[in-house]
Amino acid sequence: MQNTTQSLPGSCHCRNVTYTLDWPGGLPLSLRKCNCTFCTKHAPAYFGNPKASLAVTVRDVSALTKYEFGTRTASFHFCKNCGVFLFATSVIDGHAYAVLNANTLDGVVPSSVAETNFEGENVDVRLSRRMATWIRDFRMTLASGGA
Ligand SMILES: [Zn+2]
Repeated sequence: MQNTTQSLPGSCHCRNVTYTLDWPGGLPLSLRKCNCTFCTKHAPAYFGNPKASLAVTVRDVSALTKYEFGTRTASFHFCKNCGVFLFATSVIDGHAYAVLNANTLDGVVPSSVAETNFEGENVDVRLSRRMATWIRDFRMTLASGGA
């Protein structure tokens, strides 16, 4: 653990939402997984620190949305353009606290969670892997909007 504060950048995929985190907690990050039904679908890895400061910039505010469920004590913030879940907030005694999804950090940040990366694959390998591991029976039905 080092004690110097470092500046960690992050963003959604389309960069409509970017942020800078001043992180005093040292590295590696200690990430927290959650097994609720929401997190099972999104697979975020959370981290926070009461001494950290998070500055979020949103280019198009209309493309930022939030989702609440269960106890509705936390709001989960998404970019509508690219669908990325960036962070959650919770207002407690009038103060908004935030927890970050570590998956939205830009660049390699040492953490205690192992990751798999497919960037080095050529197209043939990639497509073969998808045929072997992805869902074969996929259908999409579009609801008709008419009355
Ligand atoms: Zn986005």
